[in-house]
Amino acid sequence: MRVFKFGGASVKDGAGVRNLAQIIKQYDGQLFIVISAMGKTTNAMEAIVEAYMKGDRSLLEQRYDALCAYHYDIVNELAELDKNCIEDLLLQLKTKLESEPSLNYDFEYDQIVPFGELLSTTIVSAYLNAAGQLNEWLDIRRYIRSDDCYRSANVNWELTKELLAGLCVNGDGKLFVTQGFIASTENNLTTTLGREGSDYTGAIIAHVLDAEYLAIWKDVPGVLNADPRWYPKATKIDELSYWEAIELTYYGAQVIHPKTLKPLQNKKIPLLVKSFVEPHNAGTIIKSSEQSGALQPIFVLKRNQILISMSPKDFSFIVEESLSDIFHVFSKHRVSLNMMQTSALNFSVCVDDSKYVKAAIEELQVQFDLRYNDEMELVTIRHYNKAAIDEMLGGKEVVDSQVSRKTARYVLKASEWKF
Ligand code: ADP
Ligand code: ASP
Ligand code: MG
Repeated sequence: MRVFKFGGASVKDGAGVRNLAQIIKQYDGQLFIVISAMGKTTNAMEAIVEAYMKGDRSLLEQRYDALCAYHYDIVNELAELDKNCIEDLLLQLKTKLESEPSLNYDFEYDQIVPFGELLSTTIVSAYLNAAGQLNEWLDIRRYIRSDDCYRSANVNWELTKELLAGLCVNGDGKLFVTQGFIASTENNLTTTLGREGSDYTGAIIAHVLDAEYLAIWKDVPGVLNADPRWYPKATKIDELSYWEAIELTYYGAQVIHPKTLKPLQNKKIPLLVKSFVEPHNAGTIIKSSEQSGALQPIFVLKRNQILISMSPKDFSFIVEESLSDIFHVFSKHRVSLNMMQTSALNFSVCVDDSKYVKAAIEELQVQFDLRYNDEMELVTIRHYNKAAIDEMLGGKEVVDSQVSRKTARYVLKASEWKF
């Protein structure tokens, strides 16, 4: 059994859905297909949630209509499809949007945003069936169960294993089509696993069903040594160890969701990152291997950072107790620390600039003197050498740095990149 995950870019229009059908046709045997919302639908769904929570009816209607139009355009491009296949879902969403919202933003988000994945899988499954690629559409919320930490739910592995194991996956050549990113609580309330979480869904299913491998199909040839949108000279890496791949996702390489690798590594299930544009090419394989010897430099850029430095107001040292208070505040506000440094009287962190950070800063200001620099960028060079450092730092203002044996990290004042 294999698990394939297709992201939003791969199914952004009718041609994308046809291409997906062509790709899976090349594979015999059982296949579990996990699909994200089409194109940029999740961003559009977030905008719908915003209008819903604000109670702005006319904006809400406008955004809902745009969502319907986008999906109907795709349905119309696929001549084989029954034009009414998404009517029920859109009606369910409309009914939800006509109800009064509760005060719990994260809960409401998880009741609305998942319609993106429900719509995409409904269209793809119906198209495949109409094209003779018979498949079963699964509501993954019946199988992947989580706690009620809305917008960033934690998987209940015991229950998920029990439920997924009960699913008949032994039929010859059976094809399942299901949603990434979404799950549900024991009480059947929908949850989401965090933005970009569909890769993780693929890994959960691959882990529980002991898949031969998980393949994620992207708009890039594989994992490259940098994001090509930023660094046009980026080249493909043919093979990576789980360890290296986890390091890269931790530093912020957006090509794979950070939670994806652990469930695969734990069962030694390989992860293939392949191109949906050139599906016959090998892509990148991530698997268990000892990567020794010199690897080429790999660059990761995190934009939109804020560097916060704090020192205790009463001049006490930064010790375990104060660190524990600081971590508690950041974790409570769901702010992840991208880099940290500590000295006797100072602790500094580099974090994504977001509305959550402002709340954390306000709380920390009670106990600490705080200074912060916004408009920062964090560059990580894994397997650095002098030429790589010179290329990244040339003409840049370095505000902070951290260099270890294999990794060099720099907080830079944001400015234009020229390569
Ligand atoms: P999907 O919607 O399929 O999950 P994503 O947009 O999340 O796709 O991931 C693919 C994108 O990740 C690419 O278009 C590329 O710009 C970006 N990316 C960032 N870092 C890397 C990297 N090291 N290698 C390849 N792609 C990368
Ligand atoms: N559709 C979700 C998102 O855009 C999940 C995913 O694409 O992985 O975040
Ligand atoms: Mg993604």
